[in-house]
Amino acid sequence: MDPALRDELIEIVGPDCAVADPEKMADYGHDEFSLRDIGRLPELVLKPRSPFQVACLLELASERGVPVTPRGGATGLCGGCVPAPGGIVLSLEKMDRILEIDAANQMAWVEAGVTLKRFESAVEEAGFYFPPHPGEESAMIGGMIATNAGGSRAVKYGVIRNYVRGLEIVTAAGDILTLGGKLIKSSTGYNLLQLVIGSEGTLAVVTKAVIQVMAKPAATRTLVIPFAGLAGAIGTVPRLLAAVVPLALEFVPLEVIRISEAHLDRRWPCGAGETHLMVILDAGSEDEMDRTSEAVAEIALANGALDVCVADTPAKQENVLEIRSKIYDAIKRETIEILDVCVPRAEVAAHVMKVRELETRLGVWLPTFGHAGDGNVHTHVMKCRIEAGRRVPVPEAEWRGTLERVRAELYADGAARGGVISGEHGIGLVKKPYLEGCLSPEHIALMKGIKTVFDPRGILNPGKVFD
Ligand SMILES: Cc1cc2nc3c(=O)[nH]c(=O)nc-3n(C[C@H](O)[C@H](O)[C@H](O)COP(=O)(O)OP(=O)(O)OC[C@H]3O[C@@H](n4cnc5c(N)ncnc54)[C@H](O)[C@@H]3O)c2cc1C
Repeated sequence: MDPALRDELIEIVGPDCAVADPEKMADYGHDEFSLRDIGRLPELVLKPRSPFQVACLLELASERGVPVTPRGGATGLCGGCVPAPGGIVLSLEKMDRILEIDAANQMAWVEAGVTLKRFESAVEEAGFYFPPHPGEESAMIGGMIATNAGGSRAVKYGVIRNYVRGLEIVTAAGDILTLGGKLIKSSTGYNLLQLVIGSEGTLAVVTKAVIQVMAKPAATRTLVIPFAGLAGAIGTVPRLLAAVVPLALEFVPLEVIRISEAHLDRRWPCGAGETHLMVILDAGSEDEMDRTSEAVAEIALANGALDVCVADTPAKQENVLEIRSKIYDAIKRETIEILDVCVPRAEVAAHVMKVRELETRLGVWLPTFGHAGDGNVHTHVMKCRIEAGRRVPVPEAEWRGTLERVRAELYADGAARGGVISGEHGIGLVKKPYLEGCLSPEHIALMKGIKTVFDPRGILNPGKVFD
């Protein structure tokens, strides 16, 4: 980057909010995707404190054709905030104010750099509840909006798209725009708000958001339901969903629960069977909760469940959730990629059977678990295989080949079932080569047209989603 331009850019945010030292910029070259060979060092990291500063930066970057990669908490799993063409990383970390929690309208108004952890506590402190919950709480509101984040509660309450009511964005040209507001309804022109949600930083930079919050459920309860095998567990899901709408409904093989138990030194409430359903219920009263839990137990037992274990106290529920959510930590070191295929709910069983078939055919370990209730299947592609119950490393040349085959076969299987290659993580850099397998050329052409309208010089997160 031309030194004079660098100085001009730094002057906009001030030297205390700029990083140019390559060693200090190293952390800004990757996200949580495990293969660091997709990483790239930026030429400059800038941390604006206001929308006005963002606008000045983007205007100058557009004028001079400098790529800008917006960055939130960098918890993404597909290289979305990796500055692939170099240029500027625009980190929203300094824009982290919770501006208002408006109880009368049940809306929170926050800056893009607020982390999920802080947002959730502030909302709870104000007596409200915010359902979308990606598993990593250092994700930021702007990043969650840019990826249309989900999480396990999506089965009942939907993804973040269903909660964002207003946005302040800065366009590539440097215009600050307000989209939507504290509104439940709007039929006023094209819905640019929804277009920006899930656009992975390629259309605009999100600087503020108005987010709907809701009343906290009066009661929650977690049921752990063991089945002898995967087919029985997943086959029961549509029957459960026809009767109740759980807050979360996940399937988890006992094999990975055991690994997480050992990692945390905690005990899962039930050791029977091979695949467990974790069902989280919420209700308006304890009576309603009892009735719903009984309905779930009856359906599960009628469909081959071996038992129904109830976690009814906050401590027991926390224990189950902790073990479930720390599976990733327990196998992270050997995980290459977490696939994120989303299929119609009735196709989950068949898709997971395809994973099992691949495991056998390729002689690999593909631990698979996830949101059975919303069709989002997380298959983990691993650098190890299981031999006699032990994790044995696989040579790199072998696992790189496996990764390509597993991706290609599972994405094709998902698409053939009417699914998509990402239910919540986004396309980013890593899934870009597979986009054409699930969206038509006409669909991609329209997306490219939209990109050109928003960002004619192509400076915003270039090389992401499509080329
Ligand atoms: C352990 C673990 C569990 C996870 N579980 C889930 C889960 O259950 N559900 C789920 O949905 N995801 C999950 N994720 C993925 C990740 O947490 C989400 O994708 C999250 O929404 C990313 O937010 P972030 O702030 O970290 O974004 P980043 O990784 O920083 O960026 C993601 C994308 O958003 C863009 N972006 C960031 N901020 C802005 C902004 N202000 N304006 C415009 N564009 C912006 C970036 O350019 C990039 O394209 C998980 C990740 C981990 C590590």
